[in-house]
Amino acid sequence: MTTGGDRRAEVAAGLARVRERVEAGCAAAGRSSSEVCLVVVTKTHPASDIAILADLGVRDVGENRDQEAVRKHDECVEAGLTAVRWHFIGRLQTNKARSVARYADVVHSVDRERLVTALATASHEAGRRLECLVQVSLDGDVSRGGCRLEDLEALAGAVLSAPSLALRGVMAVAPLDVDPYAAFAVLPDLRERLLRLDPDAGLVSAGMSGDLEAALACGATHLRVGSAVLGARPPLG
Ligand SMILES: *Cc1c(COP(=O)(O)O)cnc(C)c1O
Repeated sequence: MTTGGDRRAEVAAGLARVRERVEAGCAAAGRSSSEVCLVVVTKTHPASDIAILADLGVRDVGENRDQEAVRKHDECVEAGLTAVRWHFIGRLQTNKARSVARYADVVHSVDRERLVTALATASHEAGRRLECLVQVSLDGDVSRGGCRLEDLEALAGAVLSAPSLALRGVMAVAPLDVDPYAAFAVLPDLRERLLRLDPDAGLVSAGMSGDLEAALACGATHLRVGSAVLGARPPLG
């Protein structure tokens, strides 16, 4: 893997800007940035960027496509980069569960019972315990991923009943064309609902490059930030 000096400087600058935004957002919300995990979304960017990020102290990376994630995960392992935690954040087909269970540490996009069943079987077979966040749809348009708010407990219960899965919290994406502060305002309530089921289910994954301040104001513990750190993504092929 190459870690060209120019790219390293670019990534370091992006990361520094985002870390400043996180500090400011936490200060504005009266929170400590030590309770916030920055997951850098590396989709479409090469494994060499992950090596740079790891060198800059990033411990958590996010990917949204299984094929791409497998390839980069294997490249990183081959390069001796094993200290990184892999977050799967994209829509997940049940037939990809077996693959994802082999490399992912956390799946943020658990949004239907069939997927819970597939992940439970896959992680059991892989001899791993997969951390799961239940993804909710904040505008009820489940075609874009996420379950209906009223299905949160049912899905969380399905995760809790699988020994190879660990319920860790809730995940949401702000709907398009909606004030993210208004959209994310429901997050503390969703968190409380999960904490009633399991005291370890208090994580809140919300906030991307454009709305991380709103997410921090509404209690996000995990930000998923791509372009603000790594620059614009090349168009999907
Ligand atoms: C791509 C992606 C992100 C990161 O988006 P940016 O706007 O680049 O920060 C966050 N969450 C999910 C689910 C994504 O697919």
